[in-house]
Amino acid sequence: MRKIADWGNYPVIEADVSGFDTTAQLQQKLEQPGDVIAFGNGRSYGDASLQNKILLTRRFNKFLSFNPSTGELCCQAGVLLSEILEVFVPKGWFLPVTPGTKLITIGGAIAADVHGKNHHVDGSFGQHIRSMDVMRNDGTVITCSPSEHAEFFQVTVGGMGLSGIILNATFRLKKIETAYIREESVRAENLDEIMDGFEASNDWTYSVAWIDCLAKGDAMGRSILMRGEHATASDLVEQAHKDSPLIPKNGLQLGIPINFPNFVLNPLSMKAFNFAYYNKTRPGTHKHIVDYNSFFYPLDAINDWNRIYGKRGFTQYQFVIPKEAGREGMRKILKRITESGLGSFLAVLKLFGEQDSFMSFPIAGYTLALDFPISVKAMALFKELDAMVADYGGRLYLAKDSRMDAAMFERTYPNADDFRQAIAMLNEGETKFSSLQSKRIGITS
Ligand SMILES: Cc1cc2nc3c(=O)[nH]c(=O)nc-3n(C[C@H](O)[C@H](O)[C@H](O)COP(=O)(O)OP(=O)(O)OC[C@H]3O[C@@H](n4cnc5c(N)ncnc54)[C@H](O)[C@@H]3O)c2cc1C
Repeated sequence: MRKIADWGNYPVIEADVSGFDTTAQLQQKLEQPGDVIAFGNGRSYGDASLQNKILLTRRFNKFLSFNPSTGELCCQAGVLLSEILEVFVPKGWFLPVTPGTKLITIGGAIAADVHGKNHHVDGSFGQHIRSMDVMRNDGTVITCSPSEHAEFFQVTVGGMGLSGIILNATFRLKKIETAYIREESVRAENLDEIMDGFEASNDWTYSVAWIDCLAKGDAMGRSILMRGEHATASDLVEQAHKDSPLIPKNGLQLGIPINFPNFVLNPLSMKAFNFAYYNKTRPGTHKHIVDYNSFFYPLDAINDWNRIYGKRGFTQYQFVIPKEAGREGMRKILKRITESGLGSFLAVLKLFGEQDSFMSFPIAGYTLALDFPISVKAMALFKELDAMVADYGGRLYLAKDSRMDAAMFERTYPNADDFRQAIAMLNEGETKFSSLQSKRIGITS
């Protein structure tokens, strides 16, 4: 038994934790009694990969095949996105979709059906999976794809590890000429301006905004919109970039050695941080060529930044509301957050495109993600926010959640009931896969 937590360090539990190197070893583990859940790299924030018995997938991390004429890669599920980038960016290939950290596994990317800054153009990660192998309850392996065992495929993409253990996946990388991004950053003075900015940026492949959730009144929603395209060789200006266009310069790695005491994160320090960030960008539009790490993964440059939140841990409240409810809904929810004074160190706003999938989080509309230190007051606020999100027809992201109740899940995920039945049926009876989250929100008993 050992202590284990996901990224938010809330909850921290004692669990029987073990890994596996081969499918035979995994089969043996599944023969033993008791429920299990797969644990990728623990970058979900709450309890989605926590359970009394945890199966670590990181050692199951081999590249299996690559087709250089199509970019089709097959790898085991424990491979990290960072490991793919390290090998394939120098060869001129990039991930089709990437979240805001590269420190997640392929299994975690599929199970949460992660989205990136290009959701409005390229959809979520699951939409790029050609096929995958998944081990079920009884140790049998199903090869599934959008056309083969399509039902099994559907409940595994976005299925939070509840249909089985993803063993490997095949997907297509995208061709790039350089390891750099042609970025434009635009300062928006309030919520209306940032939403106009998103709508005017539909033609950009990547777009995201950092929003200052502590700004109130007329300045509420002030933010910086960042949009980008993969730079072509002719976009590069600096000689060092031109000399080796596919080898990005690495940024400085900073480490946070210990858990910060909780008092360091108070409204004043957060306000100072947000203000400094906002003022870094002068009014107007600014153009830069930045390496892909700085554009996609700014937080990965600070090792273990989650420790900033101290021992009590933190959670991320990420919701999406349909585009029609967008402006009014976002204004009301943001107002409630700013009024609460509980603020957020990090708030990310993004406009999703259309998505029609079984259990995945994205729907066409605005999504906002905010970090909160765990506190009684924050928990009470989340309850209020839940009601507003649900009333606007929105939902919460399971990969970030550690506290949603079963009623909220049932109300906001229309396929909840079918999902519950499907995972049991496709596993020929009772499923053996469950997490603290799946029990809390009533997907498994
Ligand atoms: C800084 C930061 C930024 C982030 N930005 C984004 C973002 O922009 N967009 C986004 O969508 N997400 C984002 N995330 C969330 C993250 O991408 C997801 O939570 C992802 O699922 C984490 O993958 P993991 O490998 O760490 O898996 P874990 O967190 O360990 O597990 C996540 C889920 O995947 C399941 N799982 C893992 N491996 C397997 C497997 N082999 N078979 C079956 N199930 C499996 C687990 O059971 C669990 O349900 C961010 C997280 C952080 C910390």
